[in-house]
Amino acid sequence: MSEITCRHCGRPFDESLNYCPSCRTPTPAQQEKDLARVKKKFILFIVALAIFSAMMILWLPRDIP
Ligand SMILES: [Zn+2]
Repeated sequence: MSEITCRHCGRPFDESLNYCPSCRTPTPAQQEKDLARVKKKFILFIVALAIFSAMMILWLPRDIP
């Protein structure tokens, strides 16, 4: 257990909380985790979009000249 100081409001709190109890600012470690999660979601979204596009290309009727 270690205490860190909030970057936003300057209050000390336990690092294991991940977020500042007074202003909800994430710790640098938590912020990194959040960013990694967002990146993962974004990659999944791109992959899903690519699969969807490929399916649409295969399924859509091609009667347009
Ligand atoms: Zn704070």
